[in-house]
Amino acid sequence: MRPFWIVLCRLLLPLALGLAAAQAREASAPPRLVLWIVIDQMPADVWSRYHAAFSPDGGFARLRAASARWTQAGYEHLVTSTAAGHATLATGASPSRHGVVGNRWYDREREAVTYCVAGGRPDALALPTLADALWEQTRGRARIGAVSGKDRGAILLGGRHPRAVVWFDPRAGRWRGRGEAATLGPLVRLGRRRTLACFGRPWGLFAPAACYPERDDRPYERGPFGLGRRFPHPVDGEAVEPGPAFLAAFSLTPYLDEITLAIAERLLEREGFGRDAVPDLLYVSLSSSDLVSHTFGPHSRETRDVYLRLDALLGRLLDTAERQVGREALLVVLTSDHGGSPIPESFPDGGRVSVVHLLATARRAAREALGLSAPAPPLVRAFCPPHLVLADRARSATVSARVARAIASIEGVQALATSALAGPRPADLDPALWRAARRSVFGDRSGDVLVWLEPHFGWQPGKAAEHGRPVPSDQRVPLWIRAPGLRPGAREGRCAVRRVVAEIARRLGIRPPAGADPGPLPGLR
Ligand SMILES: [Zn+2]
Repeated sequence: MRPFWIVLCRLLLPLALGLAAAQAREASAPPRLVLWIVIDQMPADVWSRYHAAFSPDGGFARLRAASARWTQAGYEHLVTSTAAGHATLATGASPSRHGVVGNRWYDREREAVTYCVAGGRPDALALPTLADALWEQTRGRARIGAVSGKDRGAILLGGRHPRAVVWFDPRAGRWRGRGEAATLGPLVRLGRRRTLACFGRPWGLFAPAACYPERDDRPYERGPFGLGRRFPHPVDGEAVEPGPAFLAAFSLTPYLDEITLAIAERLLEREGFGRDAVPDLLYVSLSSSDLVSHTFGPHSRETRDVYLRLDALLGRLLDTAERQVGREALLVVLTSDHGGSPIPESFPDGGRVSVVHLLATARRAAREALGLSAPAPPLVRAFCPPHLVLADRARSATVSARVARAIASIEGVQALATSALAGPRPADLDPALWRAARRSVFGDRSGDVLVWLEPHFGWQPGKAAEHGRPVPSDQRVPLWIRAPGLRPGAREGRCAVRRVVAEIARRLGIRPPAGADPGPLPGLR
């Protein structure tokens, strides 16, 4: 008679092997939903800044513990703006390939400044997006959604065939959308109702005051539209009923994130994202961290409050998605479109660069290079940082080099003639900066001179705090992926964020969009 344990093994082994095979299948099966969270202006050090105040049940701690994390992830382009970053996350390419060289640029044919998502469409993208690739390769069956507090945060990610793209339009003072009308209507109405409910609801501290080591009311904070610089911030636009000033004030509070996430959750549930075998893609781009950092500074009490609220809100979003899709079928990405730099006045050597003086310097240099005497016809057409555009008669390598030299002599600012990027790298130019500049130009959309701020400097007039320069604080961001079968933990080594797109495409079982950097992400292969 065989010993009992052999019999038991013979009985249990096939069962165990079957279970292991099922688990392996599960781990390698494409996710049914990719939930892609973009936190607008989230520098790489946010976790170390606030983690002690985050809840163990909140979104950040839960995601971080279960995610693969690239500790040196960042953008390798110079133009660290919202549109350029979102377009890179959408396409997996740099601005020199996807064509979105800033939030705005000068259109030489129309002789006017144009906006990155003019008309509420992603037509400025010169490459297909991950959303486009998923839609095409599933023959239009994948659900695509994108929700953001900003139009450029939603429209670029949502691509060309969205089920619903929804954003808040502060100029129109309402939530707007693009996609299928039957889907959009309830979402836009939800946004409107929830926004109006914020009227007269002061923005107070989310957590006990002891959780906020930052001083409130620093003199260089801004507090427009009646918000003031101290908690609690009135949110009424100093009016007795909701009007444009209230909507402008509202858009600078964490209520914007609250409603963005309410709309995203409603979209997820109503449209059944992740409920069938065809993978779906839902982007949520959260704008409050950016808008509040610009207004009060990234190290303000207000910015900490945004993140503490976001921690709780993201926890709820994860609950909703996991309940609907199941954790094993859910892939979550968390990253940002760019980092951000502190308020210039917080540095002893900080300062501001006058835009009026900069433009006068550029005009004078162009005039002298052309041998013209004052008054000369306008020689600078537009300045959409970092792109300074010269008039046609001043568009030569000689003139733009002279203008760049003159601008670079101003304290706090650097400049480079775009024409110089076609030749060999100047010996005195840092190789990483050279590559970053080359990745930021796209034909005629680029300026003739690239102009950017040095660390510790801001624009005058400008926001309290800025981003947009090729420095680690603006370029480095978190990159976390929580995916079935992907080992959690830190991955070392420099990591270009654009490579995440091809990685997610592979995990979805589709070909990456044409033009996406194939990667791989460090430590994965
Ligand atoms: Zn941004």
